[in-house]
Amino acid sequence: MVIKIQNKTADATIGKIIKKHEGILIEFKKIIKKGEIYLCLSGDLMNVDLVFIKSLDDVEIVMGPEKSFYFCGKSFAKKSSVEVGNVSVGIQDEMIIIAGPCAIENYKDLYETAIGVKKAGASIFRGGAFKPRTSPYNFQGIGSEGLKMLKKIHEDVKIPVVSEIMSIRDIELAEECLDMIQVGARNFTNVAFLKELGKCSTPILLKKGLNGTNTDLVKAAEFISYNGNDDIILCERGIQTGENLTRFTLDLSSVPVLREITHLPICIDPSHAAGRRELVPPLAKAATLLGADCLEIEVHVRPDETIKPGDGVQSLDIVTFESLVGEINKILGLNNRKLRMI
Ligand code: PEP
Ligand code: MN
Repeated sequence: MVIKIQNKTADATIGKIIKKHEGILIEFKKIIKKGEIYLCLSGDLMNVDLVFIKSLDDVEIVMGPEKSFYFCGKSFAKKSSVEVGNVSVGIQDEMIIIAGPCAIENYKDLYETAIGVKKAGASIFRGGAFKPRTSPYNFQGIGSEGLKMLKKIHEDVKIPVVSEIMSIRDIELAEECLDMIQVGARNFTNVAFLKELGKCSTPILLKKGLNGTNTDLVKAAEFISYNGNDDIILCERGIQTGENLTRFTLDLSSVPVLREITHLPICIDPSHAAGRRELVPPLAKAATLLGADCLEIEVHVRPDETIKPGDGVQSLDIVTFESLVGEINKILGLNNRKLRMI
């Protein structure tokens, strides 16, 4: 539950509310966002004295006990943007493309891919250092070394970088090396992790889980925002359905549905959803037409030479990526939007 309190009298009013609920298992947290003061209540909300709170004249209940997100919701803001390095994601008339390899294997491939995708139109570079695999025998990624390589890519190629981390233990290094931290689909319900990410100052690219709903995604984002970090981009990357000709099913309705319920920028990842490179361009174009703020696309300078099994099969080569960007540009033009290049 979230209460907005007028700044001048906030501390006295918060004191009164806390005193009124003594002995009830409720945690109170004062949050300041955009210069406004909020008191958040969590716990035994059925025993909140709503009549008392409503009787205070400097107080407005902006989220009642029955709801589960506010700061990431539409009633808090209409549309927000997130600064990733020097690139804003979520500006109405601009689209951003994040591109790069699934897994980082060596600096040479990483560098060549970064140069290629930047020239073709990507303005944020991705690369997986820690890989969440379904088998312990598959390539797990090169770990911390990969984050350090991405930092060097930022310096050498002058492009913001994003990568997934899977553990609280890696947050410190990630903050040092990355412009954005990715939370993978398999980790989006890891509440302890989300809470810690809320304390950092690096933007978060939060992916929807394999069985997640759009509401779950915004609730996961709320954990991050509640703990202090408001720079969150939501990402749809395919969900499990009965379909077996694609790796996952890209839930394109996420774009309009998330637009209805959240102000956060929306990213679509057609690569992990499709699982096959030939399906990436049509899905990327559909997401563009729907008005996604951002696309995350796997691209590798030599996709067929990557470690197997891996995501090489869904990675585009630079030439295909370049021609896809051309088609995306045409679609953007239809809606008076354009691609943000760097
Ligand atoms: C990835 O981006 O490389 C990745 C593993 O994504 P997801 O968590 O969506 O599977
Ligand atoms: Mn991948």
